[in-house]
Amino acid sequence: MITHNDNVNLLPGVGPKRLDALHEIGIFTIEDLLTYFPFRYEDLGERIPSETLDGEKVTFKGVVSSPAIVTRFGKKNQTRFGLLIEHENVRVTFFNQPWVAQNITVGEEVAVYGTYNAAKASMTGMKMINASIDALDPIYPATKKITAKTIRHLIELAWAEVRGNMPTLVPKKIREKYRLLDRNAEIENMHFPSDMLSAKLARRSAAFEEFFIFQMRLQLLKLADQNFSGEEINYDIAAIHKFEMGLPFKLTAAQKKVIAEILKDQKRPIHMNRLLQGDVGSGKTVVAATAMYAAITAGMQAAIMAPTEILAQQHAINLTQLFENADINLRIELLTSGLKASARRQIIEDLESGEIDILVGTHALLQPDVMFHHLGLAVIDEQHRFGVNQRAALRENGVNPDILAMTATPIPRTLSITAYGEMDISVIDQLPNGRKTIQTKRLSHNQLDSAMHFVKQQVDSGAQAYIVTPLIEESEALDVQNATAMYEFIKLTYPEYRIGLLHGRLSNDEKKQLMADFKANDIQILVATTVIEVGVDVPNATVMVILDADRFGLAQLHQLRGRVGRGERQSYTILVADPKTDYGTARLDAMVETTNGFILAQRDLELRGSGDILGTKQSGIPEFVVGDPVKDLTMMEIAQQEAITVVSKEGWDNLPENHDLVDYLSRTMAHYRYFD
Ligand code: ADP
Ligand code: MG
Repeated sequence: MITHNDNVNLLPGVGPKRLDALHEIGIFTIEDLLTYFPFRYEDLGERIPSETLDGEKVTFKGVVSSPAIVTRFGKKNQTRFGLLIEHENVRVTFFNQPWVAQNITVGEEVAVYGTYNAAKASMTGMKMINASIDALDPIYPATKKITAKTIRHLIELAWAEVRGNMPTLVPKKIREKYRLLDRNAEIENMHFPSDMLSAKLARRSAAFEEFFIFQMRLQLLKLADQNFSGEEINYDIAAIHKFEMGLPFKLTAAQKKVIAEILKDQKRPIHMNRLLQGDVGSGKTVVAATAMYAAITAGMQAAIMAPTEILAQQHAINLTQLFENADINLRIELLTSGLKASARRQIIEDLESGEIDILVGTHALLQPDVMFHHLGLAVIDEQHRFGVNQRAALRENGVNPDILAMTATPIPRTLSITAYGEMDISVIDQLPNGRKTIQTKRLSHNQLDSAMHFVKQQVDSGAQAYIVTPLIEESEALDVQNATAMYEFIKLTYPEYRIGLLHGRLSNDEKKQLMADFKANDIQILVATTVIEVGVDVPNATVMVILDADRFGLAQLHQLRGRVGRGERQSYTILVADPKTDYGTARLDAMVETTNGFILAQRDLELRGSGDILGTKQSGIPEFVVGDPVKDLTMMEIAQQEAITVVSKEGWDNLPENHDLVDYLSRTMAHYRYFD
């Protein structure tokens, strides 16, 4: 007998190749397969002609009234037959599906799905329907390696085995409270609904279940945090104040406020898990530096992890500068995956002996052999680029430092419950004084000259410029080719300037050198692909030209624009594009209208709807299969409350009512698809 927890390869027809394809879409067990839900249903609802509007797609069930005749013209052909539905005769035509004729016999009952033409009392057939099947045809996400039809077939096989025996995940009491279906009914109606209403009810239950499980996982992460009681960091407050006084600028009130919140957390014997939100350019780095310094004054180490090599390198440079005049003589090292083995070994050794105070790096920091002597604080920059699992990994490496995650809030506040449910939040809601609002302009391609003229003026006045080349999603090679061509063009046009070219194919050392040169103004115009998207900080750069700007998403444009306007000079962004869609135009308009990250994030959501999975992934919101964290926000909030209630009961994980839930959570930890 097959059960829900068995491997899908127990099903007939699942060999190694198919198994591979299933694994790719997160299906390992029978249960995974059965919760691989359709994303929509094609309504094959059976209707009669008198109740059907012209142009509607419907299913007519009737008796064949005249034989199928196939007519050919050249390579094309059509098949026609008559269908008697109650008292009306409808002429059905299929184009280029001559095999349809084989199943048409006068006097027999058939069902046809197609488009109805009321004036002609005819139907353009799209497919023949098994006359006895359900009225709704579920549509499954398919891949190149596995078709929706195969998935459907496997689901039918699996359901026949385990029907009625699926464990209940959401405890009964909660199901009753919100009138959710029993899990078996839910699964059955997701895959085999008899009508739209039952599909809808099943969807509601499945969405709640999905949110609830997600929130349970966040609660478990929180509990795990509390079990690590965390260390009290006895920092030297006088030294910290002195460090702040020695900064080249005065901290903003908002920066002071969040620093106070963080220091308070660090002092408590409880583990810190805090998210620092602040728009691009709001000055998060110095806040992180202060918190790191606090840990160091207490004799501990600190680490900062960034999503790209360039950003990690830049942090290493910036931190070195910031701490140059500090009382404590700090050793800062950079650990990235590009490092030579011997250099890496040395760093790991010195880290373990405690000689290194601050380790800066990419996800290379997460490798298991990277052990600290005494890590007091781990900072995660641009955290929306990392998943919850990576956040958790930092905690699990034997050590349990305080965590400070930072993000430029590319998502609206209403969604932070989803993305950061397990964290406390601090917000920098103000830009440093003297910042001028970046001016943004839109030009079409034939105005590129005037954009370049403007760049020239800025560079002549001592400032620097970025030129960002189009994003080619499909091909990094094309990306590089584009940037290189642009670079050659600009070098030819402006031989008098120092010009650099930055793209993803360069070695780490080359990138490092380029960024150092740009920072030192040895490069005046930097032509770059989106590798400069996050975090790069060169305050003397005042203009950014973004080519084919309509190819970028709003969040990305906002991040890119955040590379200028980082000093006191007026800065500019020029979006060069001839958008071909309304959506493209709307994004560019939004960029021109506002520089506020919150507003842009909200606008982005409105424009896109939250169904855009790729987009949400970029902003750090996990993907949901059934529920929509934007549209179903209230449901998400309820799921959160219920999850909190469940775990707050003493011994909750041993209560019989939670048995299935606990079993599921532990069983699925390893390949949980929301936390990639
Ligand atoms: P982000 O929040 O985008 O990471 P950064 O930390 O990179 O921003 O800071 C942006 C720029 O603003 C940097 O050049 C930094 O030195 C500068 N900066 C930070 N805080 C202040 C401040 N209080 N006054 C003036 N400039 C500041
Ligand atoms: Mg930053």
